[in-house]
Amino acid sequence: MSEALARHLAGRGIRDPRVLEAVERLPRSLFVPRLLRAVADVDAALPIGHGQTISQPFVVAVMTEALALAGTEKVLEVGTGSGYQAAVLALLAREVYSVELLAPLAERAREVLCVALGLANVHLRTGDGAAGWPEAAPFDRIVVTAAAPAVPPALLEQLAPGGRMILPVGPAAGTQVLRLVEKGADGSLSQRDLHEVVFVPLRSPG
Ligand code: SAH
Repeated sequence: MSEALARHLAGRGIRDPRVLEAVERLPRSLFVPRLLRAVADVDAALPIGHGQTISQPFVVAVMTEALALAGTEKVLEVGTGSGYQAAVLALLAREVYSVELLAPLAERAREVLCVALGLANVHLRTGDGAAGWPEAAPFDRIVVTAAAPAVPPALLEQLAPGGRMILPVGPAAGTQVLRLVEKGADGSLSQRDLHEVVFVPLRSPG
């Protein structure tokens, strides 16, 4: 339980009560390395090994709020990492498909999400998330939690009409912008930039 963190996020302007409730219900300490458990509820990105990070809770909340989840959606996440964002999504959407490039992180996330938390609506795969998850497409929502210089074309293709995608776009080093892409019922695309963020880069396999 992370009540203090949920209160903090409400104070920083997160309004969606379902997002705040999900943050409150999920112990972030489960998703960080043992040595960092005592500081798991600070609003900061933390290292999770292999040069990767668990995202800052405020950024997780902003991205999740921007997805406007009603509970019926099929969601794709690129960059499982610790599994924290996937867990938030699992509480707020129908099905979550999450792809992680690094096998050790994917295995650890599976233990937390599927075993410790018993979330039956989360599906995990190891591989290059820039290719999406074609067999499970189309997705009503897509969230990318690693920065790319441009929106990966396969993800745009796998976004359902009426769907929304949120992702950090920009250079690997420095800051990026959080971009919200909406696909109209007729397939037309519109986008707007929300916040400056700092994410680890979306990498190519190999
Ligand atoms: N959503 C995560 C944040 C993880 S940081 C969380 O809640 O903890 C971004 C993650 O993206 C890292 O684990 C990194 O290994 C992964 N990643 C980087 N490039 C990737 C790619 N091409 N496909 C899938 N995952 C990738």
